[in-house]
Amino acid sequence: MSVFDHPEFDDHEQIVYGFDADSGLRAIIAVHNTALGPGLGGCRVFAYPDDADALTDVLRLSRGMTYKAALADMQQGGGKSVVLADPRRSKTPQMMQAMGRLIQSLGGSYLVAEDSGSNEADMREMVKQTAFVAGGAAPINPDDPGDRDTSAATALGVFVGIQAAVKFKLGLDDLKGLRVALQGAGKVGQVLAAHLHQAGARLWVSDSYAPAVDFCVEKFAAKAVAPEDIAGLDVDIFSPCALGAVLNEQSIALMKAKIIAGAANNQLAEPHHGLNLLEREVLYAPDYAINAGGIINLYYSGTRRRWADIEAHIRRIGPTLEEIFKRSSEAGKPTSEIADQMAEARFKKK
Ligand code: NAD
Repeated sequence: MSVFDHPEFDDHEQIVYGFDADSGLRAIIAVHNTALGPGLGGCRVFAYPDDADALTDVLRLSRGMTYKAALADMQQGGGKSVVLADPRRSKTPQMMQAMGRLIQSLGGSYLVAEDSGSNEADMREMVKQTAFVAGGAAPINPDDPGDRDTSAATALGVFVGIQAAVKFKLGLDDLKGLRVALQGAGKVGQVLAAHLHQAGARLWVSDSYAPAVDFCVEKFAAKAVAPEDIAGLDVDIFSPCALGAVLNEQSIALMKAKIIAGAANNQLAEPHHGLNLLEREVLYAPDYAINAGGIINLYYSGTRRRWADIEAHIRRIGPTLEEIFKRSSEAGKPTSEIADQMAEARFKKK
């Protein structure tokens, strides 16, 4: 199939295939849109069955980054890269350096960051070959989680988003006594659980990794829930922080929560599930609006990094969500659709 006829092709500015015989690197970089700035996005290392799957992933994910950056009010575009390799078995420092050279060859239209399958050590290899690695500065104060540790920043943004959703939907200024079902107590989920616990919310937690649940039970007085039961719990807020496509026909039919607000990417299994949630009067905080804290954190790299500025920017996720909720209720349209419209208005007018 021609790239330009690919169902996920959406006026991407650059799609670059890279191969390095010495290291065995096989990679694709997609820069979706640079109207607001260089295309920022993670480098995913994954053992794709073939390069058609890798292409689909990189086209879809890079587009998503443009929307996320625009909605988070950043002078940044959207990009993504994929390396076709098993991150545990076949990824090597030489391969990551070759990836760095490929990124450098784009001259700055793509800015790389960590993603699933890549980590701090990989970024250090790439930095040897390219100036276009997001982040780099050491944390400059104890409250600063560091620019490559995106999960604490993401969790803060999700917490702020939950507060905004509670205010809009329930008319409450605080979370005291509210019941939250947290799906996934990983890097983001655990920090979010700490914020929620401190704010007086009551927690029900599920994770397929039992020690993660135990941690929340012990630290935050959470109640453990089996993974298959979490989405249907009788709670005020459902917070998906594990995996995508959790909002589907089955889970929406069971949903008793009035608010869905969590960190997971691509929560709606299909776009029309946004409408299903609206019809059931469940307030959905669009995933890429509420989980932008991590990318905002990356945006403030090097000398311009001040945690106070970053935190203030992350806290703007609250007003952005309020605006989405308000417009959604006025227009009778899903919050997911409104978020897309607001993002497009920013990057398409440039
Ligand atoms: P993580 O891998 O640290 O945590 C995910 C947790 O979910 C793990 O503890 C895992 O055991 C658990 N899990 C997996 N399948 C599950 C299931 N079926 N039921 C319950 N638990 C399950 O990842 P993370 O960094 O905490 O990110 C969480 C989500 O947020 C991911 O979807 C990620 O893509 C998204 N996200 C993360 C960031 C970030 O800064 N880390 C930013 C934006 C979006």
